[in-house]
Amino acid sequence: MTAIFDKGDKLDPNAPEARPEPASAPLGESAPKSLLPLSALARFANVETWVFDLDNTLYPADSDLWPKIDARITLFLANLFGLDGMSSRALQKFYYQRYGTTLRGLMEEHEISSDEFLAFVHDIDRSSLKPNHSLASAITQLPGRKLILTNGSREHALRTAEKLGIHEMFEDIFDIVAADLVPKPAAATYQRFFDLHGVDPATAAMFEDISHNLVVPHARGMVTTLVVPKLGQHDHREPWEIAGAEAAHVEFVTNDLEGFLEGLIDKG
Ligand SMILES: [Mg+2]
Repeated sequence: MTAIFDKGDKLDPNAPEARPEPASAPLGESAPKSLLPLSALARFANVETWVFDLDNTLYPADSDLWPKIDARITLFLANLFGLDGMSSRALQKFYYQRYGTTLRGLMEEHEISSDEFLAFVHDIDRSSLKPNHSLASAITQLPGRKLILTNGSREHALRTAEKLGIHEMFEDIFDIVAADLVPKPAAATYQRFFDLHGVDPATAAMFEDISHNLVVPHARGMVTTLVVPKLGQHDHREPWEIAGAEAAHVEFVTNDLEGFLEGLIDKG
């Protein structure tokens, strides 16, 4: 079932402000697809390229995948610097928040091998991930190209997409190595992505679980959708990662990505 929140048609300055805001909207409740706002459908009408973040977007934030990667990063730092778990964890979170990824922090402040880091932290058990047939079906039916844009590694994205049964729907994966190790939300990384894949942001949509990663996409004209956990769903992410659903650069918020996409296909 679709839970979709049109945050107001930003293209129309006269649009009413009466639509529900995600902070107060009952995220766990679902709306019939027939109630999908027309402005949403209009906003997506000219989308030719569908761009998806991977972690906590194509699989839910209550998955144990991200905590596993998180723990591997902590272990990497502990091994590298001879730190105890708590100190390692604090350093990790400092790097992550300040530089966008822990890897970027390590590269800025120390000389470490990115290949070694990426292989180590993504070496996790993905057996908890199950194929998501409805998501696969929805992505398949979207008209146009589909790409993954992730701050993780290509191999991690591939393995994870395979587990979800959605790997064949994507034309390509733009990973942190393709980004020259400069993570989202850096503007240069989006530009690199647009250039490499010949994407016109004015005819593209971006789906992300971290609000600030939608700032540049929105500024460049992409349709921006924030993917949030379902009501009551455990969320492993940091408070700063969760914040920002009300921001102006977030056009739509959904806690049901496949339902959201199905709604667009139904009406499109
Ligand atoms: Mg993510």
